[in-house]
Amino acid sequence: MTLAHTYKRMAVRNLVLACQACDLRTANRVPFDGPTTDPDLVLVGEAPGANEDREGRPFVGRAGKLLDEMLERAGSKRSHVTVINSVCCRPPSNRNPEWSEIQACQPNLSAQLKLTQGKVGVTLGRVATSILKNDPKVTMAETRSAPFLAYNKVWIPTYHPAYALRNPSAKAWITADLKIALAFTAFGEGMASVDKLIGAEIIG
Ligand code: URA
Repeated sequence: MTLAHTYKRMAVRNLVLACQACDLRTANRVPFDGPTTDPDLVLVGEAPGANEDREGRPFVGRAGKLLDEMLERAGSKRSHVTVINSVCCRPPSNRNPEWSEIQACQPNLSAQLKLTQGKVGVTLGRVATSILKNDPKVTMAETRSAPFLAYNKVWIPTYHPAYALRNPSAKAWITADLKIALAFTAFGEGMASVDKLIGAEIIG
């Protein structure tokens, strides 16, 4: 990591920690992992849970362990990816974040996405997919595996790992989507023209 990146990362972290854009910002810790430079993939999740809030890192609970397992099966690992949450602060009682909270947190997500150099991302679940597609009505059944472009990256939507805890057959689907995303990274600098190759929907 270069010194310039380290400073930018600190600036983004300070921005996120100072955020008062919605009522979720309480005394909670704000899990913040990255963004790392040049990751294999950028993964966008939903919001921290109790474990993440305690440890100050995203995806450290059961869903996180399952995510690590699926990443390894797909050919990567946690230390090679950047993990960002759509909503930085834990919603009370682990409720789902509301669309207004997801939108309020969008500048924090945006700042983190602009900082990471990864060119391929995976949206983990409906919340991440809806904010990156700017469409609160998306369903995973419609969008899963269909690539789209946003923030100068190609995104592959997939299910949230917590869904696979409840529906074990989704493990194979998520792993397959992670593999597809890793295959996209082979385009490297040619990623700029990938929209023409795959006919991906361009957002923003
Ligand atoms: N689920 C998420 O979406 N993010 C986390 O950090 C933990 C669980």
